[in-house]
Amino acid sequence: VETPSSRPGWLGVQVPAPGVLGKMVGLLERGRLNTVCREARCPNVAECFGMGTATFMVLGDACTRNCRFCSVNSGPPREPDLAEPQSLAETVRELGLRHAVVTSVTRDDLPDGGAGHFARVISAVRRLCPGVTVEVLVPDFGGSEESLATVVAARPDILGHNLETVPRLYEKVRPGADYRRSLQLLASAKRLAPGMVTKSGIMVGLGEEPEEMLGVMDDLKKAGCDYVTIGQYLQPTPGHLPVQGFVTPAMFDWYREQCLLKGFRQADCGPLVRSSYHARPLA
Ligand code: SF4
Ligand code: SF4
Repeated sequence: VETPSSRPGWLGVQVPAPGVLGKMVGLLERGRLNTVCREARCPNVAECFGMGTATFMVLGDACTRNCRFCSVNSGPPREPDLAEPQSLAETVRELGLRHAVVTSVTRDDLPDGGAGHFARVISAVRRLCPGVTVEVLVPDFGGSEESLATVVAARPDILGHNLETVPRLYEKVRPGADYRRSLQLLASAKRLAPGMVTKSGIMVGLGEEPEEMLGVMDDLKKAGCDYVTIGQYLQPTPGHLPVQGFVTPAMFDWYREQCLLKGFRQADCGPLVRSSYHARPLA
């Protein structure tokens, strides 16, 4: 772990190809769609948009929670846009995506937490884009198994829910979330659809210890999780949690080895890895 005084060179990112970003942004604006790529200031935006991939953020751009690492706006949410599933599927088709990643802000204000909307998005992509695989990254739905079952019934190829950090840091990093509740969601998803791939992401550089990370891996494995991503936390604005340390590429390699030793089917670990970075169906 490096000291956080300045960003190490391994966090350098690509410069966007001229025109690619503009085309993508144009399509997203026309469909009135939000992406995590832009809203969460993801460092991979040039690479992912350049490859024609993006993570759509449905159910608006205002979140009812306020995680200390996240730059998505918190505030009063708007009514869900009923045209969004169709418009998202049309955009996936126009962009020629092969794998669509869909996530949302947390909507604690909605009775089903937005689960029905997720299901409608999955169905619209299935209808309009045959052959495209769909990955959803869902909020915890306040622990509602009924909401989770609604999403699972729409049969996404991958269902992800991020633990984000080790249990000791939840209060500081994710007030409003609950480590056990999040683990339970992953376990329930596997129980409801044993053939569906489940996935979870963790950020490092927030002050976690490697032993604690091994504990999280064990918990995820017990919950039946198939696919893990581990990436460096980057402070989106000075008002967000500061970085406690930059994890070295060698340490990321070690995390990956540990994940594979523990039996995960896939582990993407690296400084710029995000839960949707190089997202793809499992072989
Ligand atoms: Fe978007 Fe995910 Fe790529 Fe970041 S890693 S730019 S959020 S698709
Ligand atoms: Fe960001 Fe998700 Fe937390 Fe909302 S619940 S603030 S979108 S990380």
